[in-house]
Amino acid sequence: MGVCNICGEEGPLTEDHTPPKGAVRVTQVEMRHIKSLLSAEETGEKARVSQNGVKFRTLCKRCNNSLLGANYDIAFNDFCQKIASYLKSPLVLPEILHITGKPQKIVRSVLGHLCAMGVNRYKKGPNTEDLRNYLIDQTETFPDYLDVYYWVYPYQTQVLFRDAAMTILSLGHPASVWLMKFFPVAFFVIWDKPHGYQYPQFPNMATWGHLGIDDDIELPVHLNVVPHERWPEAPDDGRILVYGQQAMGVHEKAKKNNKLPGAK
Ligand SMILES: [Zn+2]
Repeated sequence: MGVCNICGEEGPLTEDHTPPKGAVRVTQVEMRHIKSLLSAEETGEKARVSQNGVKFRTLCKRCNNSLLGANYDIAFNDFCQKIASYLKSPLVLPEILHITGKPQKIVRSVLGHLCAMGVNRYKKGPNTEDLRNYLIDQTETFPDYLDVYYWVYPYQTQVLFRDAAMTILSLGHPASVWLMKFFPVAFFVIWDKPHGYQYPQFPNMATWGHLGIDDDIELPVHLNVVPHERWPEAPDDGRILVYGQQAMGVHEKAKKNNKLPGAK
């Protein structure tokens, strides 16, 4: 029992896979706080192990199954699977792929699954109700205070957070940021469009915020703009990040009975 992280209603809660099962290979995984992921030294933190991917018991049945699973996730999974199949193909690829998809469903899936992170976290600041309305009402237009960038992520480590503040040091003021990264794609949510926190080198789901829920477009996927594996979660000379308790890095768990190299 508890409060659903998407709709805010109290009732029995169900387990949500983040990212959804159809978008990612569901295996035994080890979850650590993102600080362990970014640290060169052993932090001594014991990993939490899940037998079948990352999941949170934080959504009501309706939000989890009807809204995400049977609706938005279908468009989201299709988009991710198409990118993955291009990346795995032996074909010579163009610098920019175009993938047919429904941006207003894909972005609702991203936001919905990020909302699912962490128990009893319905509240998301002053935009809580507004974001809920956008997620549960398919006729609502995309919130004008969000940017949702995406890029190709050809790496296996997953990174998930919805409670970080990023500061570009030359600007001084922080931005609230959410992130979901897994093979083959990363989604980076920036709240309130603070000045200086725009990344025009990446496609932005806000560009298609005016579209209807079932409108298809050719979504660009830039194969010529791929940031390094730890961007943006690792700090660098120009940026610092402060993480809350829930921010996590996720590895596939190595199998115990793997044969030694060279064994027949
Ligand atoms: Zn709900």
